[in-house]
Amino acid sequence: MTSANLCAISKVATSTTSPIISFLVSFVLPLVIFIALGQYMSKRLMNSIGGKNAMSFGMGKSSAKVYVPDSEGIHFSDVAGEEEAKESLAEIVDYLHNPQKYTDVGASMPKGVLLVGPPGTGKTMLAKAVAGEANVPFFSMSGSEFVEMFVGMGASKVRDLFKQAKEKAPCIVFIDEIDAIGKKRDGMIGGNDEREQTLNQLLTEMDGFEGNNGVIILAATNRPESLDPALTRPGRFDRRVPVELPDLRGREEILKVHSRKIKLGEDVDFHTIARMAAGASGAELANIVNEAALRTVRDNRTYVTQADLEESVEVVIAGYQKKNAVISDQEKKVVAYHEVGHALVSASLSHTAPVQKITIIPRTSGALGYTMQVETGDKYLMTKGEIEDRIAVFTGGRAAEEVVFGEITTGASNDIEQATKLARAMITQYGMSEDFDMVAMETVTNQYLGGDTSLACSAQTQREIDVKVVELVKKQHERALEILQKNRQKLDEIAMYLYEKETITGEEFMEILQSPIAITDAQSQDDYGQPVNMDTEEGGKEV
Ligand code: ADP
Ligand code: ZN
Repeated sequence: MTSANLCAISKVATSTTSPIISFLVSFVLPLVIFIALGQYMSKRLMNSIGGKNAMSFGMGKSSAKVYVPDSEGIHFSDVAGEEEAKESLAEIVDYLHNPQKYTDVGASMPKGVLLVGPPGTGKTMLAKAVAGEANVPFFSMSGSEFVEMFVGMGASKVRDLFKQAKEKAPCIVFIDEIDAIGKKRDGMIGGNDEREQTLNQLLTEMDGFEGNNGVIILAATNRPESLDPALTRPGRFDRRVPVELPDLRGREEILKVHSRKIKLGEDVDFHTIARMAAGASGAELANIVNEAALRTVRDNRTYVTQADLEESVEVVIAGYQKKNAVISDQEKKVVAYHEVGHALVSASLSHTAPVQKITIIPRTSGALGYTMQVETGDKYLMTKGEIEDRIAVFTGGRAAEEVVFGEITTGASNDIEQATKLARAMITQYGMSEDFDMVAMETVTNQYLGGDTSLACSAQTQREIDVKVVELVKKQHERALEILQKNRQKLDEIAMYLYEKETITGEEFMEILQSPIAITDAQSQDDYGQPVNMDTEEGGKEV
């Protein structure tokens, strides 16, 4: 369970590539009771990859599809946010319009530009927009297609593609998922010959054409670190354009772009939706808008309301509501306490995002409930105190189970994973432990897909790190237990309310939390009847 930031999207926006950020982006996921989180994530990943494949299968037969100028009509104005990326690409557009200007000075355009960023951030769109703005043909192929569909023909397909492109120059050649052919050659015996021949052919083609012949190759990848250095050498893909997940403003703009065709109610507030969807990619935001429109049609209404959009944020994060899931009363109670545990710990700490919503309606992703917290703005850095608080919030669900039922469940598995990752990163990546000072014990190997890390320390040190990680999490877990014990009555009161209503808003939550304690029989048997005092040194948080 999760609690704290659920939202998957509580990511912290990014526009730099600092490890903190990449880490948060990947891990600050919903705090959800995700029994099936693993499955869900891989499904989601597949979806985003699947979308692309579908596109490339469509054009699988011919070697590369020629897009007649303007047939798709995508322009920079259709790509919301991503200002930096558009700026770097604008130069290429200018060159395609007026190559003479560049040759006169003796400047040559890079032959290859690498668009680097997580899936669904608009890399393909940007490549098409470059062609659209420059009004030149757009050839596109996907790297996985070379490897999977053109077995035995990869190299000749590459030759074909470039032959066509040179005939049609000036033009854009777009290679999606270039990592599929351009992975580092690992020197393993019996390596993938097919892939290597394809890659060699690509390198030969790039070296073969003189600069300034009007063919510009744009390639996209979300695993830049896995690319063969031969590809990124000067004269090949020597320019790199980061295409990051959108920040708060970017998300708002993307929502607006995709709502152009949608009939909207007067209550729609994209700023709030953008905040709720922290961490969402452009593709997910497009999906949110469409889900909301579908929901509107399903309910026989004529325009999309704020509620439609809010519900679709949750659908995209956690799946559809399972209206008729059969959950025993006891389990429902456990889930209610678990989620309120997260929320209550969060509200009592000072460095946490406000609770937006708590729900115990199961979702198709396997989430049995979640607590959504929404940051009020973009955050690019996290302090040590904030990370500690966040870990405490992650442990709050399990802590509630302990305090109330004395028996624990599997519901905290996702919380445990997230808390551990954060605690570990504090020590190994962020230099936030005294023992290891500013020494990197782990390096992030893939910034965009899950933030994989590789260890860079001795076995002895690894053992010490493991001990420290446990200590760190344990300390926060104890803090969470203490908070919940002190606020046992509020915990009961809110959990029972949630149990009845199944979904409560952040305002309802705060209202009950701040109301005077109802006098019940429970009080006499409870030593911890003190409410959270909102202004004590306990770190009470004002709302
Ligand atoms: P990528 O190639 O980075 O995986 P795509 O360019 O295929 O992503 O984007 C998928 C879809 O997501 C697009 O067709 C568009 O609907 C939406 N999208 C992504 N980023 C943006 C953006 N910055 N502005 C508008 N729409 C976007
Ligand atoms: Zn939880």
